[in-house]
Amino acid sequence: MAVTVETHATLIDAARALGSSGATYLGGGTVVMRGINAGEVQGRIVRSADPALRQVGLSGDTIRIGAGVTMAQIAAHRELAFLHPVARAVGGPQVREMATVGGNLFAPHPYGDFAVALLALGARAVPATGGGALPLEDLLRDRRRGGLVAAVEVPRPRDPRAFGWLKVSRVKPKGVSVLSIAACLPRETGRIRGARVAFGAMGPSPMRSAAVERVLEGQSLDAATIARAAQVAAEGLEPPTDSIASSWYRREVAGVHLRRLLEGMA
Ligand SMILES: Cc1cc2nc3c(=O)[nH]c(=O)nc-3n(C[C@H](O)[C@H](O)[C@H](O)COP(=O)(O)OP(=O)(O)OC[C@H]3O[C@@H](n4cnc5c(N)ncnc54)[C@H](O)[C@@H]3O)c2cc1C
Repeated sequence: MAVTVETHATLIDAARALGSSGATYLGGGTVVMRGINAGEVQGRIVRSADPALRQVGLSGDTIRIGAGVTMAQIAAHRELAFLHPVARAVGGPQVREMATVGGNLFAPHPYGDFAVALLALGARAVPATGGGALPLEDLLRDRRRGGLVAAVEVPRPRDPRAFGWLKVSRVKPKGVSVLSIAACLPRETGRIRGARVAFGAMGPSPMRSAAVERVLEGQSLDAATIARAAQVAAEGLEPPTDSIASSWYRREVAGVHLRRLLEGMA
């Protein structure tokens, strides 16, 4: 089947053109173009040249990042220093020039490193068709129903040390994930209040770990708490087996890497 590409001036026009037609939205194309070249993606390709897609805006403690903002843009943005290590860990330089924040939310396993960080930070996805922003966990639970995303709203951590992130890969610096982990652990008088911990490559899409969050909530980040969190790291997660690692291996090492991350944040 032939591939046709439509470019729409505004995101809302692109959303209308997509409708429920089964057409494919093209962000930076790092995943979609591979699908086209392999003959797996065919038919109508919809893209948008809306400048809002590439904008980063700050309002109080919330940062709005357009879905078309690339990893390279994130890594170069002064206000987004806490996200620089995450953006730099996505692919190599050429991939980062193209790979977008919006595309990362929908990229299949084992991709989605940036989405893991956004999930831990409590980000929300802004639909292109309007309406209220959606918690990222809701979007990631069923990405087929996600619709076109215009932007993500990210609460900026008050204390940058409350946010930690790590990626485990076999090839450094640009291998894909054995797993990735992000934690947002704000503390009040030394106790964790509102723990959010997310894993990547430990399920079909990035997901929060209720078990780890339960262990951390209300505690100080001491050696005993970290050990308990490491023990339950893989609880409730269903890591897939792929060419990078087996499900068994991912489960075995999740606690080790979670412990290292938490020790670095203590
Ligand atoms: C060599 C290589 C290395 C890579 N390494 C990594 C890595 O280390 N970590 C990682 O996380 N990823 C990696 N990726 C995957 C990919 O580059 C990133 O996940 C990227 O962020 C995807 O964004 P994109 O704009 O290129 O997506 P696209 O290819 O344009 O789209 C991907 C999917 O998202 C959908 N989509 C795109 N934008 C939107 C939107 N605004 N709203 C709704 N749906 C949308 C598309 O329809 C499609 O289904 C790698 C890819 C390659 C080719």
